[in-house]
Amino acid sequence: MCKVFERARCFNVSDFMETERLLSADNVNQEALLSYAREAADFGTNYQLPSLDYAINHYGQPDVAMFDFTSMYASENAALIREKHGHQLVVALVGDSLLEPFWPMGTGCARGFLAAFDTAWMVRGWTQGRSPLEILAERESIYRLLPQTTTENISKNFEQYAIDPATRYPNLNSSCVRPHQVRHLFIDGQHGSSHLAPVRKISEPIQKRVGGSSRAGC
Ligand SMILES: Cc1cc2nc3c(=O)[nH]c(=O)nc-3n(C[C@H](O)[C@H](O)[C@H](O)COP(=O)(O)OP(=O)(O)OC[C@H]3O[C@@H](n4cnc5c(N)ncnc54)[C@H](O)[C@@H]3O)c2cc1C
Repeated sequence: MCKVFERARCFNVSDFMETERLLSADNVNQEALLSYAREAADFGTNYQLPSLDYAINHYGQPDVAMFDFTSMYASENAALIREKHGHQLVVALVGDSLLEPFWPMGTGCARGFLAAFDTAWMVRGWTQGRSPLEILAERESIYRLLPQTTTENISKNFEQYAIDPATRYPNLNSSCVRPHQVRHLFIDGQHGSSHLAPVRKISEPIQKRVGGSSRAGC
């Protein structure tokens, strides 16, 4: 990958340190990029692909792009509940907003679905009148599992999959985060304010964005 990136830099017009500027559309030599992608496809398939025509994207252009994987982000927390004038509002993140995927691992869609199901489970608990801290603690406990999910450690009974996390995560511990650890995620105007922290770095080179407080660990 590093090698690819070094070569990728060759077809940038200017060599910026900030990847956002480096990869911005006006800094990419599109012709060189198309030619390089063809070369990579040829090399990767041992020159076996008979045709190397590009699919056309919704801008009517060859669907080729460069992406930066040096920084990846994930939300520090999965949800919060805000209470005002006796009414509660649940705010929850799912999909890439919750946990940015590293595409070569092919986990983006699967984890997106898992998080959507987990959030539906949280909403179910909320409508059943469970206490906000209980629900938030359970949601955070389940969120701890998401970055660790692989094809090996999730349930293989796909037909049994439901919003109940127990149908999907064999090693589920729904109470590893305790209600007092998520107090900052229940905003009722009485205990100071909070917000879904931006993102935090996941790891090197994968980063995160939610922010603020440190995550309650299990
Ligand atoms: C090139 C590429 C290859 C990938 N390959 C794989 C793969 O092989 N396997 C895999 O599992 N995953 C892959 N992924 C990742 C996968 O696409 C994402 O993880 C998944 O699509 C995330 O789903 P999502 O619903 O969270 O976000 P998205 O699919 O990005 O959906 C978000 C939607 O919200 C819309 N939107 C944004 N802002 C607003 C707004 N203000 N108002 C209204 N709508 C808005 C967007 O238009 C978009 O339709 C790949 C991603 C890319 C870019």
